[in-house]
Amino acid sequence: MKISVLTIFPEFFESFLKLPVIKRGMDKGVCDIEIVDIKNFAHGSFRHIDDSPFGGGPGMVMRCQPIFDALNSVCIENSHKILLSPKGKTYSQSKAREFALTDHIVLVCGHYEGVDARVEEWMDEQLSIGDYVLTGGEIAAQVVVDSVVRLLQGVLRENSTTEESHENGLLEYPQYTQPREFNGLSVPEVLLSGHKAKIDDWRLTQSLLLTREFRPDMFERYELNKREKKLLEAADNDKKSND
Ligand code: SAM
Repeated sequence: MKISVLTIFPEFFESFLKLPVIKRGMDKGVCDIEIVDIKNFAHGSFRHIDDSPFGGGPGMVMRCQPIFDALNSVCIENSHKILLSPKGKTYSQSKAREFALTDHIVLVCGHYEGVDARVEEWMDEQLSIGDYVLTGGEIAAQVVVDSVVRLLQGVLRENSTTEESHENGLLEYPQYTQPREFNGLSVPEVLLSGHKAKIDDWRLTQSLLLTREFRPDMFERYELNKREKKLLEAADNDKKSND
């Protein structure tokens, strides 16, 4: 797949593109990431990319012409154009999965007070990475690129993304590695038992308990199957008898 990022701060991506997962994706030819400097498309001797808002108010607004020309330089017929914006729909793992199947996504990073509202007319969607305001869209674009590239076939080891948090509507179970004991804290016995079915049950139970505790909104949406109901009931009964 191809990802084009339109930004006025291309230098923001210099070290990002060298991160192992991103670099592996590019080196293997699984993804092609291009960073496009919107400033190169500004007209006039001063190459203004921003101006003060009509109607007055603080700050500067990114002008639409350089963004329009930058978009035209990268877009092909089926390019999916995304404006990063705190006003957009909240980005999610399912969106990342959707983008991982898309041939070309174009991410437009705003800055200052944001972009001229006419830019929104040319977009397929607006996405926010959360309910807070960043200085620019570059960090948001990196969040999208990272979460998409790691899903592309050949970037991570086979199946390593399928059991992760948010993949199946639950949070992931706790993970442990060596040593077995550290500062008085030990690894749960079941994980050392070598008993696959018991480990699977324990992991699923932990996923359910964690999701119920930390993300009640997700837990409410999740439909428990028979096995999950039984495991959760057993965990609740265990807790009651230990209390
Ligand atoms: N004045 C705008 C508002 O109140 O909605 C905020 C502009 S913000 C300072 C500048 C740029 O950062 C935005 O145009 C957008 O590209 C990016 N940005 C800020 N917060 C974001 C978020 N939560 N998700 C995605 N992009 C964001």
